[in-house]
Amino acid sequence: MVAQNRSEERSETEKEKLDILEATQTIIKEALDKLGYPEEVYELLKEPLRVLTVRIPVRMDDGSIKIFTGYRAQHNDAVGPTKGGVRFHPDVTESEVKALSIWMSLKAGIVDLPYGGGKGGIVCDPREMSFRELERLSRGYVRAISQIVGPTKDIPAPDVFTNSQIMAWMMDEYSRIREFDSPGFITGKPLVLGGSHGRESATAKGVTICIREAAKRKGIPLEGARVVVQGFGNAGSYLAKFMHDAGAKVIGISDAYGALYDPNGLDIDYLLERRDSFGTVTKLFKNTITNKELLELDCDILVPAAIENQITEENAHNIKAKIVVEAANGPTTLKATEILTERGILIVPDVLASSGGVTVSYFEWVQNNQGYYWTEKEVEERLEEVIVKAFNNVYNTAINRKVNMRLAAYMVGVRKMAEASRFRGWI
Ligand code: GLU
Repeated sequence: MVAQNRSEERSETEKEKLDILEATQTIIKEALDKLGYPEEVYELLKEPLRVLTVRIPVRMDDGSIKIFTGYRAQHNDAVGPTKGGVRFHPDVTESEVKALSIWMSLKAGIVDLPYGGGKGGIVCDPREMSFRELERLSRGYVRAISQIVGPTKDIPAPDVFTNSQIMAWMMDEYSRIREFDSPGFITGKPLVLGGSHGRESATAKGVTICIREAAKRKGIPLEGARVVVQGFGNAGSYLAKFMHDAGAKVIGISDAYGALYDPNGLDIDYLLERRDSFGTVTKLFKNTITNKELLELDCDILVPAAIENQITEENAHNIKAKIVVEAANGPTTLKATEILTERGILIVPDVLASSGGVTVSYFEWVQNNQGYYWTEKEVEERLEEVIVKAFNNVYNTAINRKVNMRLAAYMVGVRKMAEASRFRGWI
């Protein structure tokens, strides 16, 4: 019975992730049509060039062997090597990894990096695994995908439930296989192993810049603005802190188990101190609300920074925020995007808002290639410049072409990839 429920749950998840991939393909098609590209460009870009599925045997602490399934998708390498994170999550599916790799291509295009998009994932629950089991799994994954990755081929990075320690194990495993030190194989590493200043908070920094720019356009002063952040992981927790420091009032936050609400503003420093490494904090409190209630709170700025499909047809009519800035990948469905846009709510899409992470990953890779390291100030200044330019580009495209910011971002994101594929003679 339990097994049956689990497989029903899994096929429900698979269906949901397939919907995400199809929604992505729909907007890619729309963006290419608007730009006047022929059908074969869509045929090339609608799926990744390459997807590798691997089975990873891991010796668990109790002596048993468990076989994990992992994926690595490489969407398009016309512009340069593919790049993107690896997520460890029980709900990872092949369609999800494919969609995420396409989004990485778009992000790279939007912030103008010399990369195509890639993404990886392992079906596992790191919350239920020991440190050593995680190390064996991380190393096993690198051995399994080693032939198709590398500093000039495909460069992994952190994503949901993966961190700098996991990047360090992966870099070490890759360097052992190749028999030379290869810091440029992966980004998001600890500073002592060639990581970059500012990488850990980079996604949240990028989101913060997008919030500031969007609020300016909407005439909302950040000082005193009521902000709700869904998710208290890497992006959500740093973001809550940056918003708090900018003088905004963070009135709601959440994790996978529930949400906290205080109309007078939450004590963010206290919450940051109490969160665990997976971003769990609400379990410590009695008076929690649900994630659904959190999204519908009366606020100025709503930031979904957790998982996919949070704002849907069902709740889009009840969202009260004036601006939605997507720090997570894929939190708003296509239908919900239409409803929010009709209601005059400005959506800053994931492929733009969350591109700070990959931007600083690029800076890290450049530093690794040069063997010359930048200061935190240098990283911050360059990130600011890149994100402001990308925001303006997408915002102006949306205004000039009379489309929402998601479609505008896709138009900006696919262009370089399509051009590079054409110059290479692929299409
Ligand atoms: N996983 C992050 C993302 O979705 C970062 C990828 C990277 O740094 O390469 O953008």
